[in-house]
Amino acid sequence: METLPFDLVIQNGRLIDPGAGIDGYFDVGLRNGKVAAVGPKIDPGGARTVDARDKLVTPGLVDAHVHVYEGVSHYGIPPDPTCLAHGATTVLDAGSAGADTFTGFRKYIIEASETRILAMLNISSMGMLAEEVGELDDIKWANIPKALATIEANRDVILGVKVRLSRDLNCSEASGIRPLFLAREAADAAGLPLMIHPQDSWAESIDQVLAVLREGDIMTHMYHGMRHGILDEDGRIRASVQAARDRGVRFDVGHGQGSFNWDVCSTAMAQDFLPDTISSDLHSHNVEGPVFDLITTVSKFLLLGMPLNEALQRVTVEPAKTVGMPGQIGTLAVGAEGDVVVIEEREGRFDLVDSHDIVRQSPLALVPTAVIKGGRVVRNDA
Ligand SMILES: [Zn+2]
Repeated sequence: METLPFDLVIQNGRLIDPGAGIDGYFDVGLRNGKVAAVGPKIDPGGARTVDARDKLVTPGLVDAHVHVYEGVSHYGIPPDPTCLAHGATTVLDAGSAGADTFTGFRKYIIEASETRILAMLNISSMGMLAEEVGELDDIKWANIPKALATIEANRDVILGVKVRLSRDLNCSEASGIRPLFLAREAADAAGLPLMIHPQDSWAESIDQVLAVLREGDIMTHMYHGMRHGILDEDGRIRASVQAARDRGVRFDVGHGQGSFNWDVCSTAMAQDFLPDTISSDLHSHNVEGPVFDLITTVSKFLLLGMPLNEALQRVTVEPAKTVGMPGQIGTLAVGAEGDVVVIEEREGRFDLVDSHDIVRQSPLALVPTAVIKGGRVVRNDA
């Protein structure tokens, strides 16, 4: 029997692959879970097809900030129905697990899910367990030797060290901002980047927190509206924030339940302070709103005037760099993983809500209608 050239062909859509510089009407042929061909008209030759007529076709989205330790962390949600089925074929869990809880995260979540999951290890060895217990209420939880041992055993999936610094959420006065320095020490010893969640920390200002960050480190929750934001009293980008960007610190959206403020975002964007990556910080307390999913977060940036291709770049090729897989994911170049999303540009009146319950109405919403992961059709509404 003759073998088919393709297992699956996505046809008739407008392909936007910012990493490959493509925006046009191209079909995508997949074979053995990888992209085998991209061309104006691909003959499926008997292979299964997905019709993307009048829709966008993009690489599988990459969400650089989620919480998917279902059943152990109170933030945890199941990744396949909330991320993968909504177009995020790859996600980065931002510190749900620490050294004491990572083995379970790997075994029962990463290895059991179809969503591709990578992780930042929480410097707190317990990770983000219960709402009543801040993971850094007691400094003893910031255990560098344990973190390093866990990183060594899981270098294929742990990409960095995460520390959350909020005083009311997870960091006691007794710990202050010491966890920031311990996390820095662990990240340096492991040779990995540091990811920080800075809002309302025990630091004097965000300047003190950013001073610790270097090229390749990540500040998430960049447009939060609490103390220690990126704007000064006059609404200008702080000098320390611009300096951090200039030396290569990456700025991530991390929308979340409390960390996306329309005014902060639009004020910063008006000064050309754009995100390196758009991420959702999707977790149990925001998956029913205001976040819902990554693609809804992208729709918010379209409403604020970001061009479609630039927004998609920030959920494909850019976060692919964050997770160390440029060229493999976040693009549909030949040879890349066969992760594809078909997206409808739905017109109507859509209420988009920030983290302060402020509603803005949008005439457009992006809605994923088909998701393919590694060549397998996970979802196809058509
Ligand atoms: Zn988070």
